[in-house]
Amino acid sequence: MQAVRDAIAAAAVQAGRDESEVILLAVSKTFTPGALREAYQAGQRRFAESYMQEALEKMAALRDLAIEWHYIGPIQSNKTRAIADNFSWVHSVDRLKVAERLSEQRPAHLPALQVCVQVNISMEASKSGVAPDEADELAHAVAKLPNLKLRGLMAVPAPSDKIVAQRLPFAQLRKLRDQLNQQGLQLDTLSMGMSHDFTAAIAEGANMVRIGTAIFGARNYGEQ
Ligand SMILES: *Cc1c(COP(=O)(O)O)cnc(C)c1O
Repeated sequence: MQAVRDAIAAAAVQAGRDESEVILLAVSKTFTPGALREAYQAGQRRFAESYMQEALEKMAALRDLAIEWHYIGPIQSNKTRAIADNFSWVHSVDRLKVAERLSEQRPAHLPALQVCVQVNISMEASKSGVAPDEADELAHAVAKLPNLKLRGLMAVPAPSDKIVAQRLPFAQLRKLRDQLNQQGLQLDTLSMGMSHDFTAAIAEGANMVRIGTAIFGARNYGEQ
């Protein structure tokens, strides 16, 4: 945990940024409540999950902790109610129908659901996310929904081991965000960067990095 925080701080300094500009999301999918509790005791407050049933079980087991929960997985329409009821943030909104359901289903006693629109920045056929040339329209429509607060854009670019190649899609996402802000939106969040590419993402302006493996170790999906 501390090693990851140090690496984020170093990447920020290298990019001429203040480390306080970069929020660390601990991606805890597949890890046990005990692992989250340990990270919490080390000061971590924001955790991200991708699988609904697993997330709800952890929330129940960790009810005594003041965790801010983020949903980063794919969203089928039948999951919107559980997201609206249980999460503070959702990073993976990629179509209007899902956003409309989240807004309708957000309970009145909770603050607005904080939202990022996921963009398929590398245009991979297999990936979730709205196409870059359709992101404008979706972002403007989501921004109008009453119980959502559109905060920014999220992307999971195609992997690469070269930092120069890693930076390109992150730069594209930042450019898209800047364009939307010129059009009158107020997006303060670029949710980009994972264990293998967060240095590149921070160099291109990431202010939320989603890191799992580097904190908790390798995931074992077989035991799910
Ligand atoms: C699993 C996941 C991450 C974390 O990936 P690591 O490589 O373990 O850091 C980040 N973002 C999304 C959307 C994920 O599904």
